[in-house]
Amino acid sequence: MKGVVTKSTGSWYTVFDENGDTIDCRLKGKFRIKGIKSTNPVAVGDYVIFEFEEGKETGVINNILERKNYIIRKSVNLSKQTHIIAANIDVAFLLVTIDNPPTFTGFIDRFLATAEAYNITTVLLFNKLDIYNDEELEKLAMLDAIYTDIGYKCIAISATKNIGIDEVKTLMKDKTTMFSGHSGVGKSTLINAIEPTLNLKTKEVSKQHKQGMHTTTFAEMFHLSFGGFIIDTPGIKGFGVVDFDPHQITDYFPEFFKLKSECKFNNCLHINEPKCAIKEAIENGEIAYSRYNSYLQMVEGDEEHYRTDIYG
Ligand code: GDP
Ligand code: ZN
Repeated sequence: MKGVVTKSTGSWYTVFDENGDTIDCRLKGKFRIKGIKSTNPVAVGDYVIFEFEEGKETGVINNILERKNYIIRKSVNLSKQTHIIAANIDVAFLLVTIDNPPTFTGFIDRFLATAEAYNITTVLLFNKLDIYNDEELEKLAMLDAIYTDIGYKCIAISATKNIGIDEVKTLMKDKTTMFSGHSGVGKSTLINAIEPTLNLKTKEVSKQHKQGMHTTTFAEMFHLSFGGFIIDTPGIKGFGVVDFDPHQITDYFPEFFKLKSECKFNNCLHINEPKCAIKEAIENGEIAYSRYNSYLQMVEGDEEHYRTDIYG
């Protein structure tokens, strides 16, 4: 039997099978996936092969199918192992608000670069369309143009006024998706508009964090009534910080990647080098300055300043 893991408590896994039934499964013996050193061999989103235990309603997982992608978090213990939060994510939706709260391009670009590194498709959702004045709508249009131009799908929505929600649902159908974005951008409101019966834990956990509680949070996946799954990652706001090698960052900015072979030096970091195709593209307006700014902050590892407001 084949199914997908929707929940894991460490020793038991909830598997959603092809008939839409959920089965509690254990792992068969010692399980280790080649190449990945992680504290959990099986994660939410993993496709698994299982069989029922004789005479029981519980199952045993025999095999894990190859992952398309996965997101990780460094383990809390000191073993330097990683914890796989979730696997096989088809689309990550990043909620962006122009105001209330403002989302800065440094944050957007870091998220997108990390998603590229993880091999996850991102769709940008500009939420709270209903509250923006002309100036803010102009900023929205500018961001929409920047990101559409480099290949990211952008949708302007309002979770409270039901604008653009059907388009989001169409993208979610039969897919495994997750929602990210700053606190207050409208994730819970949107998910509630999409599937009112879901009660995700986002809120509860962030409250616990504020109280300084160190609770281990597990991701969980929920089946959508119209087909597909949504991954809830309580306490995890984005993909976390990934340690990038400065020379790799270019590969995660699609419009830079396209041009990098035209730089004079093949190890060009696009900062002070002569005959740099990226810097030329910025000068002639082909690459947005805000994107270059985010790139520089990532290359310089400047955590403090990566939220620079492009609007000045
Ligand atoms: P989360 O922290 O990302 O889950 O954000 P919430 O869903 O809790 O939303 C934060 C606040 O923004 C709430 O007061 C929502 O009612 C409000 N909100 C969410 N979406 C919209 C929207 O499209 N328009 C307006 N005007 N407010 C919204
Ligand atoms: Zn260059």
